[in-house]
Amino acid sequence: MSKTILVTGGAGFLGSHLCDRLVAAGHKVICMDNLFTGVKLNIAHLEGNPNFEFIRHDVTESFKFESIDQIYNLACPAAPGHYQFNPVKTMKTSVLGTMHALGLAKRTKATVLQASTSEVYGDPTVHPQPESYRGNVNPIGPRACYDEGKRAAESLMFDYHRQYGTAIKVVRIFNTYGPRMHPFDGRVVSNFIRQAIAGEPLTIYGDGSQSRSFCYVDDLIEGLIRTMETPAEFTGPVNIGNPHEFTIAQLAASVVRLVGGTSRVEVARPLPQDDPMQRCPDITLAEKVLQWKSTVQLDDGLRRTIEWFKSIDLTQFRAPTPNY
Ligand code: NAD
Ligand code: UDP
Repeated sequence: MSKTILVTGGAGFLGSHLCDRLVAAGHKVICMDNLFTGVKLNIAHLEGNPNFEFIRHDVTESFKFESIDQIYNLACPAAPGHYQFNPVKTMKTSVLGTMHALGLAKRTKATVLQASTSEVYGDPTVHPQPESYRGNVNPIGPRACYDEGKRAAESLMFDYHRQYGTAIKVVRIFNTYGPRMHPFDGRVVSNFIRQAIAGEPLTIYGDGSQSRSFCYVDDLIEGLIRTMETPAEFTGPVNIGNPHEFTIAQLAASVVRLVGGTSRVEVARPLPQDDPMQRCPDITLAEKVLQWKSTVQLDDGLRRTIEWFKSIDLTQFRAPTPNY
């Protein structure tokens, strides 16, 4: 049955792929975004579709609709350089944005899905990270605006659920990559691919031994939609990510190999403060409740992402912040 679905952050990397999937499934999609890190280019192909509407709005200001069935709350800068650029705004976006989404859900009886993050685990001391792990976050460090903002958003989700019976789903997203990542977001996959295509040295921070687990965007979107469609009693939190772990040095070597050319790896820049040393999801819960697991191998996903980066005109993209 066709639903009316609000996607906040819908012009961003993940949000635009989600809008694509929901429109293709026959739903009416309202995409709300302030275009801080999102770009109109990501949704240009949906403009004119009668089932798609774009609204430029900042979620730190309240918003009202008469009838909404589902809300995917994705609005929030996700790359460290972007969320640290205006940390007070980042915290406001997570806290006020989630409150506004929940307020709307309370009134319209919509289900809200919160795009939470593996960053709620901070620099983890338990590995891989199950949902029961409470994390190791520095509350006063440079990543706190994002990590603690997302943790507060999770608290709000569960308080609205307990206090008002609001239907909620919390997904903890692990590092995701793919076409439409902002080329100047400073994240490791976009930096390495952009640098390799340009024949520039790849900038490894620290000695490259820190690890991440990279999930291809199509797998992630499938996980979000499956979570939204679970029975009301399932609230999460649920980890969605690829459990195959790679060091940043291994990622750099893969990107150089797949792009070809003459790029070399440069181990020169210091590791940023509070940069988590290892990160890998325990996806037992997702496998059990959602029958979900990632299907795209890193090499395959990187190839598809490299193709997209080769196809875009970088002059069409304005760097949202100088941090890339
Ligand atoms: P993104 O930066 O591409 O998308 C975020 C979108 O939110 C952008 O379009 C941006 O313009 C919009 N936005 C930011 N602040 C806003 C505000 N105040 N009002 C309205 N819109 C606002 O990042 P993404 O990778 O697509 O991330 C989407 C969501 O998923 C974020 O909430 C992020 O925290 C979460 N997440 C992503 C990853 C990942 O690896 N991509 C990992 C964990 C969590
Ligand atoms: N990183 C790197 N070179 C870059 C960008 C990032 O070595 O050009 C490292 C960063 O220090 C971190 C990892 O890659 O250890 C992942 O960084 P990203 O910003 O993509 O995401 P995070 O998981 O830290 O939020």
